[in-house]
Amino acid sequence: MHLLKTIEDHVLTNPEAIAFVSNGDQISYKDLWEKSDNISASIIQMSLKDSSPILVYGHMETEMIVCFLASVKSGHPYIPIDISIPIDRVTKIIESSKAELILNVSKLPISINNNVQVYEVNEIEKLYLNNNVVSDSWVKDDENFYIIYTSGSTGNPKGVQISANNLQSFVDWMLKDYPINEKLVFINQAPFSFDLSVMDIYPALASGGTIFAITKDMIAKPKFLFESLRVSKAQVWTSTPSFIQMCLMDPSFTQELLPEIRVFLFCGEILSPSICYQLRERFPSARIFNTYGPTEATVAVTGIEVTDALLKSYQVLPIGLPKNDTKIVLLDGDKSVEDGEKGEIIIVGPSVSKGYLGQKEMTEKAFFEYEGEPAYRTGDAGFINNNTLFYKGRMDYQIKLHGYRIEIEDIEHQILKTSYVKATVVIPITQNEKVEYIMAAIVPTEHPFEKEFQLSAAIKKELGEILPAYMIPRKFIYCDELPMTPNGKVDRKLIKEKVLV
Ligand code: AMP
Repeated sequence: MHLLKTIEDHVLTNPEAIAFVSNGDQISYKDLWEKSDNISASIIQMSLKDSSPILVYGHMETEMIVCFLASVKSGHPYIPIDISIPIDRVTKIIESSKAELILNVSKLPISINNNVQVYEVNEIEKLYLNNNVVSDSWVKDDENFYIIYTSGSTGNPKGVQISANNLQSFVDWMLKDYPINEKLVFINQAPFSFDLSVMDIYPALASGGTIFAITKDMIAKPKFLFESLRVSKAQVWTSTPSFIQMCLMDPSFTQELLPEIRVFLFCGEILSPSICYQLRERFPSARIFNTYGPTEATVAVTGIEVTDALLKSYQVLPIGLPKNDTKIVLLDGDKSVEDGEKGEIIIVGPSVSKGYLGQKEMTEKAFFEYEGEPAYRTGDAGFINNNTLFYKGRMDYQIKLHGYRIEIEDIEHQILKTSYVKATVVIPITQNEKVEYIMAAIVPTEHPFEKEFQLSAAIKKELGEILPAYMIPRKFIYCDELPMTPNGKVDRKLIKEKVLV
């Protein structure tokens, strides 16, 4: 791997350049490098188990990136945990990852058992000052660089292991195939616990650019967001389609606000032509790219430029062609499908993860070897037409809501843990193939509430302690029993029809 070396080159040639800006705070390449060296020297002194992961807890503070680099320079992968993840879920991640160290950027309010050490950044930085870390200790090759936890259908989040080689393959592709390799300013919208953030962090750092964070405070206050965008001098925009759709609702979201924007990169959800038409109108000189991929294959593996000609040709936009070290195979069971036919999208190539941390069975189900190369069954349906790939939805109960990846069964497991629920089924409510919100049909147990809204409030309160806010259903309906199909499954369709009348 040469990613860290490439970043070091920028430190040497342009030390005062700004690497990361967040909420008025900023850090130069030199400081990023020196601080992460100091912390990594301290980590090395701690003699953690070989390659045991380090949890980095926080939001988008400049110290987050410092801690990421400190971890990998000390030979340990990091697990980025955003503060939006409730403590109960963080605890599960600590336990299942067997992390021994937490770098506590946002002051995690948690009491941890004796096996885990917790340090704030300024404490750990001072433990062993001025120690030079040699590159021999850096994470390399097939060793894990980061582990990102995503919603899991069993009710427990699962940790996708991304190696140094996986990440290098992704970053090489981004900098080669996209016009972003010129020390540009990248907008970072996704919290670091989502792998979309990797699409700006490492291409920015590997090209000597600057990351400009869109924090949760900005998202909560549109006026603050737009003021921040105005001063950002952003040139590369990376976000989910959901996020830009929200920005586009404001008529002042135009080239006047972001005069230097030249590239829009989207990933994570269906990109609608209507978003692209609006962008073409409001940012006529910017280029738009639709990229596709799951966390398990390192952010994205296919992409296509959305030109006026493409918009004219298709009502549903394609997701493009794979990067040149990767193959896309469409399978129906074990058989390849013909062009034009629908099959499961299989990703084959060097950015495919080695699997879920500590989850052998789950890994074996989804990851395999295809013609001698690592392959991942995405669970996405697709077809190939005119030599380009199209997305045709999911083959299971995974959804995207406002850009967040959610396993419906994960929510069902958590609802069943709350006090007043005998049975439940969670249903995504969609419009034009986009999930608008999620609702839960619930068979309640005995409860003390007079009104349904009081019961819903009580369930939501309990869910708030175990699920991130974006996974809590907006609407609850109550029934005496869940309707069944003739073959004994919960009749999700019927419940949905009842809700929509
Ligand atoms: P995540 O692991 O959060 O990146 O989510 C991966 C899933 O998001 C994929 O398996 C797809 O279902 C969906 N996805 C990613 N990119 C796109 C895209 N460009 N168009 C449609 N769906 C997408």
